[in-house]
Amino acid sequence: MTLRDLPSVDALLQGADRLIATFGRTLTTQAIRQNLEAARGEIRRGDGAPAPEELLARTASTLESWLTPTLRPVINATGVIVHTNLGRAPLSTSAQHAMQAVAAGYSTLEYELGSGSRGDRSHHAEQLLTMLSGAEAALVVNNNAAGVLLALTALAQGREVLVSRTQLIEIGGGFRIPEILQQSGATLHEVGTTNRTHLRDFEDALSERTALILRAHHSNFKIVGFATEPSLSELVALGGQHEVPVLDDLGSGSFLDTTLYGLGHEPMVQDSVRQRAAVTAFSGDKLLGGPQAGILVGQTAVIEQLRGHPMARAVRPDKLCLAALLATLQHYAQAEAETEVPVWRMIAAGEPALMQRAEAWRQAVGQGEVVASRSTVGGGSLPEESLPTQLLALRVAHPTRLAQRLRQLALPIIARIEDERVLLDPRTVLPEQDEALLAGLREALSEKAG
Ligand SMILES: *Cc1c(COP(=O)(O)O)cnc(C)c1O
Repeated sequence: MTLRDLPSVDALLQGADRLIATFGRTLTTQAIRQNLEAARGEIRRGDGAPAPEELLARTASTLESWLTPTLRPVINATGVIVHTNLGRAPLSTSAQHAMQAVAAGYSTLEYELGSGSRGDRSHHAEQLLTMLSGAEAALVVNNNAAGVLLALTALAQGREVLVSRTQLIEIGGGFRIPEILQQSGATLHEVGTTNRTHLRDFEDALSERTALILRAHHSNFKIVGFATEPSLSELVALGGQHEVPVLDDLGSGSFLDTTLYGLGHEPMVQDSVRQRAAVTAFSGDKLLGGPQAGILVGQTAVIEQLRGHPMARAVRPDKLCLAALLATLQHYAQAEAETEVPVWRMIAAGEPALMQRAEAWRQAVGQGEVVASRSTVGGGSLPEESLPTQLLALRVAHPTRLAQRLRQLALPIIARIEDERVLLDPRTVLPEQDEALLAGLREALSEKAG
């Protein structure tokens, strides 16, 4: 078997009409070349030369794999509502429409219709954000990490930032408070101890080098037991005596009161503003339930300083984000977030309704049982908190294999495995996906060796 036994590119192209029709001649040629190269390697290693039909089949799968997007929709049956790995918040219908409308054509992104002159994209969401939060001014950036970095850079570069040792956190995706601080060019001044930090620790740490006090939400962990830290109002009062502003990184933040939904207390944006943080930073796609964005609200002078900083240009939001954010904020303004914003609809879903859906699924697939379990909010908010749910539990011989088959469906279903059972939580499955979920379940269960 020699390299000469391999067909030429042209010879293979002659048998590739179907591929050329689907993928185009250029891409098909490229895929053929790649597969011929691999085949040459096989021959050199002493393996046989693949037949032309085999080479064409390989070329077809190469082309498929090139053109299958790696970013695809999935069904989230995990019960984790703000699932960072699965894209965090699903958008409301009107947020989707707003994005679509702006994506399809031109828009007033930086245009004033009244005067017919250049406008400023950074003002679109300001009205709604100030109204909802009670803050004087607002600025939207690309994500909350960027918002915190911008605030630290603009307010504290070359100077000191005081942070309690209880708040030197790392959240998912490598966002670490000490590292972000270093990136901003500010110096971290650690205050207090791992479990207890007192106001007097901040008092002792304040000096003429202090530019800012940073308060960071613990995000995905919880300190329990012998623990304390000063409140935001205490920090603001202390800072005020020394003209040192407080930056409050809420992480998720919320406009709605989570305790009304059987959850623990998640800090609310309005409270942070009322307690006079100079800037409050939070995410657009955590409990707000909108697009990826970083939202900064606060005092006019401080927000203007951030808006005018060169870094603001590098972290500005795009028009799709702004369109979706505006539509999401409108739901809050019209007091309809609980029914219109999917994240809140999921949080508010009652156990009887969840049981009904799980039971309907069970009947439709003809197996499994409905069991009580817990859903979680996720997204670095409300650690250790969960909501009672009713889900479909499938006991099969090989749960990991079933979970894998569910992931390999055309519309993948992401499930959870617990106690040797595959669990599907209706709380995070959008109602309009029910049919697709059931079709996918039937397909995956019907393959043999369940
Ligand atoms: C999530 C989070 C961030 C980062 O927000 P992104 O929108 O993901 O960039 C920053 N700080 C805290 C405390 C968080 O929980």
